[in-house]
Amino acid sequence: MGKKLSVVLPSYNEEQMIEKTAKVVGDILSREQIPYELVFVNDGSKDHTWDKILKIKEEDSCIKGICFSRNFGKESAVFAGIEQADGDCIAVMDCDLQHPPEVLVKMYRLWEDGFQVIEGVKASRGKESFIHKMFAKTFYKIISDATGIDMSRASDFKLLDRQAADEFLKLPERNVFFRALSSWVGFKTAYVEFDVREREAGASKWSFKSLVKYAVNNITSFSAAPMQIVTFCGIVFFVFAVILGIQSLYMYFAGHAVAGFTTVILLLLLVGSILMFSLGVIGYYIAKIYDEVKMRPRYIISEVVKSKDE
Ligand code: UDP
Ligand code: MG
Repeated sequence: MGKKLSVVLPSYNEEQMIEKTAKVVGDILSREQIPYELVFVNDGSKDHTWDKILKIKEEDSCIKGICFSRNFGKESAVFAGIEQADGDCIAVMDCDLQHPPEVLVKMYRLWEDGFQVIEGVKASRGKESFIHKMFAKTFYKIISDATGIDMSRASDFKLLDRQAADEFLKLPERNVFFRALSSWVGFKTAYVEFDVREREAGASKWSFKSLVKYAVNNITSFSAAPMQIVTFCGIVFFVFAVILGIQSLYMYFAGHAVAGFTTVILLLLLVGSILMFSLGVIGYYIAKIYDEVKMRPRYIISEVVKSKDE
């Protein structure tokens, strides 16, 4: 028998998928004779996800379940799952079978060949609207520039060696952006392409609002570019102010200063709004620092179920 693979499955309102996912993934891994455990993390679901996890756990000793006290978000669920996983290598995949389980086998084989981090790379971005694709592109461009790692087709579907996973777990920040941090830890990395499948049941948990929040949150975690842009705007406006100042003084001394009321109003509005926007950006970073220094736990677990021999 080979070494054990832990598969972490963050699940939020996935009652329709739990049983099916456990069966499909379990069948594939058993067929390939890979020893495994499935770590389901119930991220405060409002439906019967936890009951389903408890049910399949009764029937199958390879299943672990972690229940959060409320919804803490996917990143926290991934973190908790990796913390509880005890395999020699740990894979993370979505619970909705959009990440093809056959790819797990490929990842495991690459791990056996000595790779420590195996990144699932989207061959295509699946079915998404044009606007969504455009936003995603801009978002990943900013993150890629900040990290120096090409993130354009990155996904949360990955396999980490025990060593890489332990290093990931050591990261002190509350806001763990798994997709980028798994590359950030380094180690010998391989890439596996996969096609994003359609969701079989349930609905995507992403709304436009949550996507914007996700993007802003992760950009500010990885990059100080927005603050630099603000500074740059400040410099541009200073140059404008100097030019305008010189011009006004010239007009004044030349004796034909006109009542440029419109200009004044427009300038006031423009400068005012830029100032406010800049303060907002800076405030965002401060809020983030505040969030980190509070050192609140990333998540709260209400229940853990595992097999008796552990
Ligand atoms: N998920 C989670 N907590 C959340 C939102 C989502 O654990 O707050 C899980 C969800 O159950 C799924 C995965 O994260 O297994 C990806 O979510 P989803 O399918 O909604 O994202 P999409 O595939 O549309 O990007
Ligand atoms: Mg999905």
